[in-house]
Amino acid sequence: MSYPELDMLIDGAWTKGSGAPMDVINPATEEVLGSLPTATDADLDAAVEASQRGFDAWSAMTALERQKIMEKAARYIEDNVDRIARDCTLEQGKPVLESKLELGFVVDAIRWYAEEGKRAYGRLIPSRFPGTRLIATKEPVGPTCAFVAWNFPGVNVIRKIAGALGAGCSIVIKPSEETPATAIALARAFQEAGVPDGTVNVVFGDPAAVSSRVLASDIPRKMSFTGSTAIGKLLARQASETLKRCTMELGGHAPVLVFDDADVGTAAKVAAAAKFRNAGQVCISPTRFYVQESVYGDFVDAFEAATKAIKVGNGLEEGVQMGPLVADRRLPVMQGFVDDAVSRGATLVTGGKRIGNQGYFYEPTLMKDVPEDAAIMNDEPFGPVVPVASFGTEEEVIGRANKVKVGLASYAFTGDGERANRLGRKLNAGLVGINSMSVSTPETPFGGVDESGYGSEGGVEGLDAFLRTKLVSETGV
Ligand code: NAD
Repeated sequence: MSYPELDMLIDGAWTKGSGAPMDVINPATEEVLGSLPTATDADLDAAVEASQRGFDAWSAMTALERQKIMEKAARYIEDNVDRIARDCTLEQGKPVLESKLELGFVVDAIRWYAEEGKRAYGRLIPSRFPGTRLIATKEPVGPTCAFVAWNFPGVNVIRKIAGALGAGCSIVIKPSEETPATAIALARAFQEAGVPDGTVNVVFGDPAAVSSRVLASDIPRKMSFTGSTAIGKLLARQASETLKRCTMELGGHAPVLVFDDADVGTAAKVAAAAKFRNAGQVCISPTRFYVQESVYGDFVDAFEAATKAIKVGNGLEEGVQMGPLVADRRLPVMQGFVDDAVSRGATLVTGGKRIGNQGYFYEPTLMKDVPEDAAIMNDEPFGPVVPVASFGTEEEVIGRANKVKVGLASYAFTGDGERANRLGRKLNAGLVGINSMSVSTPETPFGGVDESGYGSEGGVEGLDAFLRTKLVSETGV
């Protein structure tokens, strides 16, 4: 299966850089897909300096000119969607249909930010002094940098690139070394579409070395990060040295509350589909299930049936619904969650072990009666393992749902409108889904609270994150 030649993009030129190359592995077969070039400090400095020149050129264009170029990039991706989706599946493992849906989001997000860039309005503020005009304007924040995780090789990358470009900023981005080809394809789309050299720069390397070098520079005026809470804290500390603005999209641990007035069968079906999407490697994946006592058995039975029906395999094969985990390091993590819960009294309903010994496949797994002190009820699993526990009252379950330090997504199923309203207010999360698990679109704000991070991507908030505000006070004009 052919996989594209991998390059970095620095100052408008595709380059191998001067660092030692790394292997990219297919998680479904464990085969080496390709050789990824990496950046030395000199390469990184060149990328950061280029982003200043890229910013000067790109920000000088009108929003309309920028939108036209971004539209061309969106069309390039649409025209090449089959090829890019296949590469995404090869390197990340998700079923090719999921890769295509992801690229659909990518295209929509480019168009959203490109159009929204035309509406980066300021305000004319009535002055308290005669003969004075007070003008509040929005300007692009400057060159930016970004570091992103591998679980959405397209979406994680485009939320940064399109947000920055829509606002008139340039970017140096380090996508994941595990899923580089998708990011490179997206960068190529912008380069082919005609962005000025240095507007989009893509680098790879040792993650800690790359981020500390780029963040030490005072050229990037903003950092946007998608990844774990632990690394997010580290990068925020580094970014603070030069007072870069930050958007932090970090880990979650989404509770699902199923009340006895809900349509339990639908809840189980919707939740199972969301849970096993991308093998559970989704920051807003439903990860802790709390089901009201009187419908507990029905829910577990329905979820068990849905779990057993999931077809696992190589994402390139027809009909496969769940691929492998992204890397071998994730297999013992899943096993650890299962063994820990069972040792504390949970019952394994289905799954609970690796599938075969080639490819990083793990069984879709359901555990019931999982005690609150089990590791999986407290730490994000980021995989296809489901813990279910029962609850009595609404007040009790809200307390359990809100007990963790992260707050990205929370979900609830109920047929009671007043309860739905209360839950929308009381669940401590940046995203709340009631009878729905759809909380991420290009036009809506996406982001967490507390240790899930701060700032939003998507929506007008996502564009605003790449803008800064200036007040101009004019007298005697
Ligand atoms: P991670 O934090 O280990 O890696 C994310 C990024 O940080 C990658 O680019 C990686 O190369 C880089 N990185 C890793 N170690 C680093 C280090 N020591 N110094 C500097 N950079 C480093 O995250 P992960 O485990 O690969 O990804 C999964 C996490 O990402 C989960 O917690 C998930 O919830 C979160 N996530 C959040 C969102 C969101 O929008 N909130 C989206 C996707 C994933």
